[in-house]
Parts: sequence; C-alpha cells; structure tokens
Amino acid sequence: MLTQLRNIVQSVAASADLHQALQTLVQQTCVAMHTECCSVYLANPEQASFDLMATQGLDPAAQVSLSFGEGLVGLVGERAEPINLAHAREHPAFKPFPATGEDAFQSFLGTPIIYRKTVLGVLVVQQHQPRQFDESEESFLVTLAAQLAVVFAHADAKGGWLNASQSPVLLEGVPASPGVGIANAWCDDSQPRLEDVAPASCLHVQKELDRLDAALDDASVEFRRLRKRFDKELQKEALAIFDLFVHLLNDPMLREDMTLRIQQGDEAAWAVRQTVETFSSRFAAMDDPYLKARAADVKELGQRLLYFLSEASSNHQPISSPIVLLARELTAGMLASIPRALLAGVVAEEGAANSHAAILARALGIPAVMGVSFSAPRLHNKSVILDGHKGLLMIEPAAPLLKEYQQLVQAEVSLQSTLDTALASPGKSQDGTRIQIHLNAGLSADSSIAINQGVDGVGLFRTEVPFLMQRRFPSEDEQVKQYRAILASYPDKPVVMRTLDIGGDKPLPYLSVDEDNPFLGWRGIRFTLDHPDIFLIQVRAMLRASLGLDNLKLLLPMISGVNELLEAKALIARAFEEVRQEAQLAGEVLAKPLLGIMVEVPSVLYQLDGIAQEVDFLSVGTNDLTQYLLAVDRNNARVANIFDALHPSVLHALSLIATTSDRHQLPVSVCGELAGDPVGAALLVGLGYRQLSMNTRNVAKIKYLLSRLSLPRLQKQTEQMLSLSEPGQVRTQMEGFLAEQGLDALVQIGRMR
Ligand code: PEP
Ligand code: MG
Repeated sequence: MLTQLRNIVQSVAASADLHQALQTLVQQTCVAMHTECCSVYLANPEQASFDLMATQGLDPAAQVSLSFGEGLVGLVGERAEPINLAHAREHPAFKPFPATGEDAFQSFLGTPIIYRKTVLGVLVVQQHQPRQFDESEESFLVTLAAQLAVVFAHADAKGGWLNASQSPVLLEGVPASPGVGIANAWCDDSQPRLEDVAPASCLHVQKELDRLDAALDDASVEFRRLRKRFDKELQKEALAIFDLFVHLLNDPMLREDMTLRIQQGDEAAWAVRQTVETFSSRFAAMDDPYLKARAADVKELGQRLLYFLSEASSNHQPISSPIVLLARELTAGMLASIPRALLAGVVAEEGAANSHAAILARALGIPAVMGVSFSAPRLHNKSVILDGHKGLLMIEPAAPLLKEYQQLVQAEVSLQSTLDTALASPGKSQDGTRIQIHLNAGLSADSSIAINQGVDGVGLFRTEVPFLMQRRFPSEDEQVKQYRAILASYPDKPVVMRTLDIGGDKPLPYLSVDEDNPFLGWRGIRFTLDHPDIFLIQVRAMLRASLGLDNLKLLLPMISGVNELLEAKALIARAFEEVRQEAQLAGEVLAKPLLGIMVEVPSVLYQLDGIAQEVDFLSVGTNDLTQYLLAVDRNNARVANIFDALHPSVLHALSLIATTSDRHQLPVSVCGELAGDPVGAALLVGLGYRQLSMNTRNVAKIKYLLSRLSLPRLQKQTEQMLSLSEPGQVRTQMEGFLAEQGLDALVQIGRMR
C-alpha cells in the first residue's frame, strides 16, 4: 500500500501541468484500489463550486459543476470528511448527472483534499457493486488525499497548477521582520544545488573548459572582494572562510581533476560535482578533526563554483541595485554577503518569525517574510513589493498599489525620525518609572555592537556567530579578542554574554549531529556541559576579556534545572580561579562576574526558588519559552500561526517569573523578541519587568512608547489581559489600548507576531 501511495504522489508531483497531474491521479488510483471509477473535483472559490477536472470511469466530456454543499461531492466538501456509501443513489444529497454515465455505479467513497483547513477539492472512487468500501480502502484514499493536498498547495503557490492560467500576484507567508521593501526579486536558489547536478556529457570540450576557467576566475575575484569587504568591516570570522576558498581554488590537484573529467567528456557542472565529492570524502575520512572538518568547506566551495558556472550561462547580472532576495533557506552568511544598501527585503521558503535568521533580519532592519512557497524562475527579476508587516509578497504590482506602498515607506521614515527623538533620553514610563533598555547583539557581526547610544548596556550578547562562521572552534585567544571588543565598546555599562547556545536551528557546520528533534536535543548548556573543554575555553576567554573592564555578566542558556546550573557553576569557578591566578601574576585583579540563567525551558518555572539562591539575575528568553511551553517549533512555517508569545499561558508564566524574582529581589530582564514588540514591551512593563533587552532597531520605538504610557493604567490593563483565555484577544485588546493612548501608528510599524 505504502509503495503504491508513494508512487501515485510522486507521479502526480512530477507532472508538468494540472491536467496531466489529475489524469495520472485518477488512472493510478483506479489501478491501486482495483476500482472502476475515480474522479477528482477541484474547488472553484469564485464560483463557489466543485468542478469535475479529471475522471477514469465517467464520461470525460461531461461538464459537471456542483455548488458548495450540493450533491454528495458538495457534502463531502462541506463536512470536510469522507462519505462512504454502498447505495449512493439512495442518499438524500445524491444529485444525478446522467450525462456522465454514472448510472452504472452503485457505491461511492468521497474524501476531501484539505490543505491547512481549506478544502481544495474532493477525490471520489465509485464501484458497480453495491458495497461499502472497507476500512483499509477508506484510509488509503484519506491518506492519498492528505498527501495530494500538500502537492497541490505547493504547486499552486509556485504558480503552476491551480492558477495555471495566471502567474500568482500575491504570495502569503509569515511576517518575520517589519517594513516594506520595493525592488526586483532576486532568486538565490534559481541556481542548482550541487547534489542535484545530474551526470551529463559535453560536445565541445574546449568550450566547457573555458566555462570552468571563467567560473574559477570569477570565484577567485569574488572571494577576494568579499575578503576585502569583511576585512574593512572587521568581520574577522568571515575572513578565514574566504582565505580558505581562495587557497582551495588555487590547489592544482582540484583544478587538474576537474579539467581531466571535462577532457574525458563530462559537462563542467558534473565534473565539479564529482571532483568535489571525491575530495570532500577524502577529507571526511581523515583522522585529524581539523582536516576532517574541511570536507564541508570543499562542498561549500563546490556549491559556490556551481553558482559561478550557472551565472556564466544564465542571465543573472551582478547585484548592483536594491533587490528583494528570495531564498529557500536564509542564512546569516547570505545576509552578510549582500551589502545592506542593496537588500530591500528577504523572502524565505523555510523558517518562521522566531527562527534565528528572522531575528537577524530584524536586527539588521531588513523587512522579511518567511514560509512562502514560490517558483524561483517565475519570480526572478520581477518587480515586487514585500510587506514585512503583513507577511505579503506582491508580484508586479499595479501602479496605484505601488504608489500606496511608496507613501507608506515615506510615512514610516517620518515616523521613525519622530521616534528617534526618544533615543537619547533614558527609558522611562510617562510617570517617571525607570525602565532599563538593553541591547541584544551578536547574532551577526553586525553594526549593533558599535551603537553604544541610548542603551543601558548589552542585555544579551549571543556568542554563536564566531562559532558558526568559522570552520572550526575558535581558539581562546580569538575569542578573547572578539569579546574584548564588545566589552570595551561599553566600558561603563554591563554586558551580558551568553555561553554557547548552538544546536536547534544553529548547528555547527563542522560538528554534524543528526537529530530528529534538534530543538529538544543537544543544544545550549547540554552540549557545553558534555564538552567542558569548549565551555571552559569560552568562559576563560570571557573572563580574560573582562580584565580591567569589569563589566562582564555571564548568562547560561537552556538551563532546565538546578543540577545543570550547579555543574556549570563548578566549571565557571574553575575557569575563574585559573584566570584569576594568571591575572594576579600579571599584577591584575579579576572581578567576579555576576551570573544568570536564561529562563526559557519551562521546567525552570517550577524551580525558581531554588535557582534564585544560586544566581545573581535572570533573563527571560521568550522565544524559546513560547516554543517549549506551547510545543510549537519556532522555526516551522506550518505552525507559525500558533506560535504566540502573547498566549495566555506564556503571560501567566511571565507573571510568575516577575513575581518570584520580585520576592527574591532578584534582577530580571527579558531578552526574547517580545521585549522589542510594542504590545509585548507594554505588557512586560505592566507585569513588573523593569529591564528589557532588544535589537538596536527597536530601542527608539520602545522608549518612545514607554514614555507615553502611565504605569498605573498599564498595570490595570495588563491585569485584565491575564484573565483572557483566547490568544488572539490579548493582542487585539492591547492594540486597542495602545491606540487609545495615541500610539496606533507605532503599533502598526512595530508589530511582530
Ligand atoms: C530566547 O529564546 O528568547 C532568546 C533570547 O534566545 P535565542 O533566541 O537566541 O534562542
Ligand atoms: Mg533561547
């Protein structure tokens, strides 16, 4: 059964057009189910009808269209569940269509094709014999319909099938970074992937060799250019990669191998794939872990070479004017390699509003929409409007719409300059209560480190990037340099540095860990406690970096209980003692950093009293707290609509943390994305939080917002919010409240769901 199912779905998915897909579907289903008739009806929302699109068994020339709710097919659609009848004609909803020749059939099994709560169509099998289809037949059809739904929805979004006549004009996704981007679309993944390159031979060997040479030269020039740029921008971590690529490109063995393959008749891309795979498996087989890790570099180089090869044969021009980047999966490297001024927005097929790439896009102020299915070749170079507030991508917009959006961009620019007036003054509510505003930094080697303006310090420095961007663990000295630069940027302010939080959606490229549930797996403190070597080096580096500056605070991610905390504390004490003694020899005094944990794993909520005895502060990670409390993958576009940091359960958890910290007089801050969201920030302050940490882009906005809110009124409003049970109500009512305070425009531009 499973094989048959898979075969049908694969044949349907591989079809060139809707007609072929549906024809394949009905024919193969008849064979698989040993039935005489199979038909598929698709929903036509404009006519509110189900139209017969393909059939095996009925007269294909018959035009059948049933209004929603009409006939057995309409009933299946309306009830959104299968109907299985031995005597179809006796059912009160039966509607005869003699022209189809269906008189011959007695039994009927219809099942809806549903994608994300929408009925896309109805799949029907019929038989001469008056008998009910058995359970296994019914479950086969239901499974088939569920799998087809995904294929149909995907094909539809890619502009190919259900809307075969017209290209899509509007694609919807998850709002991931606010703002509007107007530019031409640039499809990053219009290029083939290395693993997709199929064996191919060439007719003109010399022409192919020239193509390879041109690609190698272009790649060399590009890597040198990027190297220079990163050098200028002091992104030392990125330099190493490009140095290595240049080095590999000049490796005569690599070149010779590719050349030889082409001389033997292979097409250039196929030669690249084979050479790259041979070399990378050689590296992978080595014992030395450093050399082993080079396997990934060689593959990445191959991918980039392939890009230059197809660049040479495609009509892609180098990026010289602003673009909206469309990618399958957005990475930090991708965002870093396109100058900010040329990046009007980003759209990704994978990811959601709280994936790290989305957080990075927000930190860089790049409008972003995630979870959008698109057809790269169809969209490349088309003019688009990206609406990061609503999560929309509009393709080839008409002039009036374009004008409207251009006006919106202008309005946003002028609103931002109003908000910027709040930047210099300290964060305070309208009635003068001080709210500390800290910065989240470190997710990219971005400029936020340099902005020591208008903030009370760094509330969260994520240390993963140097680990992710290099091709090995950074050395202690390299880390010291990096951390020192940040601590020195805030000489008189606290800087909270978090120990390594890799895993989840931040896997290390050189440490492949294959896990079914990486967010529930070897992540954060779990990884570093299993690798005390890495943890000790990092903590030592942080401590050494803090010598003489004394502004370091240490933060531990993903703590799920007191045990982990005590284990980490013992290692920190060891690192501290080592660095203290070294410092003493050099005549320096090492200050003891304050220690805190991220409150982001729900188990900690019930151990706060014990934890309070062991730490100096808490920092609430609402991104993960929401993910784990609601059991919603923060990175999965399919469930993005139920990832809601304003869910009443999350609010109650936040309230519990605030009151417990207060009872223990333990400083507590919030560093998740909620703190930079106007509604979220207002609620957090209403709940009693007095320290919020956010990305640079949100600082002015949140300060402005708080300065216009009276604390007693806000507290009253927040209390009411705690009594709500519907997730959506909290946002709606809070937005209403903020609008009453004259803050509606700000809510519009700042909305982050
Ligand atoms: C969080 O989980 O809220 C958080 C701030 O950490 P990260 O987003 O890096 O997981
Ligand atoms: Mg987290």
